[in-house]
Amino acid sequence: MKRFCEHLETSPHADGSTAKGDRVRTIHGRMPDKSLRIHDCHMHTWGNGKPLSPAEFLDRTSSCGVVGGNIFSVHPATRSSQRTIVVDQRNGARMDAVLEFTSQTPGFLPFYYLNPTEKDAVRQVEEAGKCGIRGFKIIVGMYHIGDYLDPLCAAAEANLPVMFHCGMCSDPDPASQYSRPIEFESLLAVPGLKFSLAHLGWPWYDEFMGTVAKYHFNQKIRDDGKPMAKMYIDLTPGTPGIYRREALRHLYLTGYPVTEITMWGNDLGIENYETQYARWHLERDGGILSEIEDDYRSGRVDRRWLPDLTDIQTPAFEKAWYDFVGEPLPQDDV
Ligand SMILES: [Zn+2]
Repeated sequence: MKRFCEHLETSPHADGSTAKGDRVRTIHGRMPDKSLRIHDCHMHTWGNGKPLSPAEFLDRTSSCGVVGGNIFSVHPATRSSQRTIVVDQRNGARMDAVLEFTSQTPGFLPFYYLNPTEKDAVRQVEEAGKCGIRGFKIIVGMYHIGDYLDPLCAAAEANLPVMFHCGMCSDPDPASQYSRPIEFESLLAVPGLKFSLAHLGWPWYDEFMGTVAKYHFNQKIRDDGKPMAKMYIDLTPGTPGIYRREALRHLYLTGYPVTEITMWGNDLGIENYETQYARWHLERDGGILSEIEDDYRSGRVDRRWLPDLTDIQTPAFEKAWYDFVGEPLPQDDV
């Protein structure tokens, strides 16, 4: 969550200066290679103000090298939030708004923010698929997601992916325990579901790796002949700055094959896609990922226990997104 990150990370001011007392940034990162088509898989409609015009939004994203990604509708009225919402939160209106915005932002796909506990959640999923929604966003509240699998079965039937918040939740309810990584083991019961877990499960990123392992060990065909649910990793921060490098090294150096299922995101909103914030995160994450690649190539890490980490940036910034949303890779990348 963007607000969550703001409290926990130090970022330069809009004019590039640092205020008295701010830490001076000491991690000098590296922007991803210019040849990469960067996709930001995690963008919100916060609903607390007027969205940028589609043209201004495209101007800002392209100035960061971001050419596409996923935009979530505003959250349902049945979810508590710290923000004062000024947009129409009825379900139909939320869906229409994100469809309308993304109809003018080529490369950016509409995701509908679902509350799976609503009585008509299955119908919402079916309707969303018919209207052109390309996937769903869920932040689990005060309930176990394993008790609400019917809408997820409907999403899998429609071949639409679901993106979950994972880890501590900054919203007012004491709900973080329901978003711990291990809670999402229950999705193994949903055949064919493609889903992502965000924020590396912070602060439970060891548990997050346990969940990665659980899905890795179970990527086989089910007894009923249907495919297993498949977990993807949404790199969106939430890991505060001091933990970011450690969390990313945990992810890649634990030894599970995560490269092809990991995609980058930034948790910004369409009301204010803050370019300096976006570039700051791109530079930091690009730097950490290239350090892991360098360590792998030069043998500074024990390669006997690792999958190939020669290039982890192309999947993270570009390719895994295409696989997740079911878009064909551009021809020159095939
Ligand atoms: Zn978010």
